[in-house]
Amino acid sequence: MEKAKIAVIGSSSMDLVVTSAKRPGAGETVLGASFDTVPGGKGANQAVAAARLGADVYMIGCVGDDPYGQEILDNFKSNGVHTEYVEPVTGQKSGTAHIILAEGDNSIVVVKGANDLVTPEYVEKTADFLKTCDLIMIQQEIPEETVEYVADLCNKIEVPLLLNPAPARKISEKVIVGASYLTPNEHEADVLFNGMKPSEALKQYPDKVIITEGAAGVRYHDGTKEIMVPSFKVEVVDTTGAGDTFNAAFGTAVAEGQSMEESLRFANRAASLSVTGFGAQGGMPTRDEVERKLA
Ligand code: ATP
Repeated sequence: MEKAKIAVIGSSSMDLVVTSAKRPGAGETVLGASFDTVPGGKGANQAVAAARLGADVYMIGCVGDDPYGQEILDNFKSNGVHTEYVEPVTGQKSGTAHIILAEGDNSIVVVKGANDLVTPEYVEKTADFLKTCDLIMIQQEIPEETVEYVADLCNKIEVPLLLNPAPARKISEKVIVGASYLTPNEHEADVLFNGMKPSEALKQYPDKVIITEGAAGVRYHDGTKEIMVPSFKVEVVDTTGAGDTFNAAFGTAVAEGQSMEESLRFANRAASLSVTGFGAQGGMPTRDEVERKLA
C-alpha cells in the first residue's frame, strides 16, 4: 500500500522535566531529584506518532537556533519525519515546557518561543507543497490566525484538514465548517461548543466532530445515529500523549482511505497502546505493534 502523505502544521518544543519530593513555594529553593529533556509539543508529537504508524510525514513549524532546536530536528529525523519545512530561526529560542513533577502532581510553565512564528505568512510559503498532501493536521499551540488561514486554504486547495482543538479555545464557525475532522476531548468540546450537550454537537456536525473520552473511547454521529467506538482495556502506565497518538493514528488511517469507523478503531488501538508506555513520544507505537494488536 502506498503511504499516506501528511503535513503536520504545529508546535515543537523541548520539555524540561524536573522531579522533586517537594514543590518550591514563592521565594523558596529546594533540591530536586532528577532532570531530563524530552522532545514534545503537540505538533511534533503527532508528526512522530504518524511517522511511526507508517505515514509519510512532513513537519511544518519553527524552532530556535539554540541547542534545543537542533535536538528537536534530530528527533524528527530519527523518527523519519521530513524536516525541510522546519525553519531554525536566527536569534529565537525554541519552544519549551518547564515541568515540575512533585507531590504526585505536575506544574507546567510553557514558553511558546519559535512556535509563535508559525504564522499565516510562514505557512503560505508551503502552499504549493500542501496541495500535494492527502491530509493536513493542525493543533492550537500556534497562533490562532494560522489555524484560520489553514482552514481557509484547505478548502481552496481541496485537501482535508484534521483539527485537534487542543489546548482548548473558542474557534470561529468558519473554522469549524472548514475542518473536515475535529477531535476535541470532553473539556475541549465544552469550550468549543459553548457548553452545548455533547450529543447535540455531534448531531450538528455528523462525520466531522469526534469526541474522545479517555479509557471509554470515542463518539461521533454518522448522520443517522450516534456511534460509540470503545477503546481497549490496558494496563495504564502514563496517559500523556494519548490524544496525540489518537489523532496521528486517525489521520493516518483516513488519509489511507479507511472508513470513519475503521479509522477510529485503529486510532483507539494505537492510543490505548500508547498509555502502556512512559512519556508522550516514549509510548507511541509502531504500525507493526498496532497490527499485532489487531490480529
Ligand atoms: P491527553 O491529553 O492525555 O493526551 P486527551 O485528553 O487529549 O489525552 P483522551 O480522551 O484522554 O484525550 O484520550 C484519547 C484517546 O486515547 C481515547 O479516545 C482512547 O482511544 C485512548 N485512551 C486514553 N486513555 C486511555 C486508557 N486509560 N485506556 C485505553 N485507551 C485510552
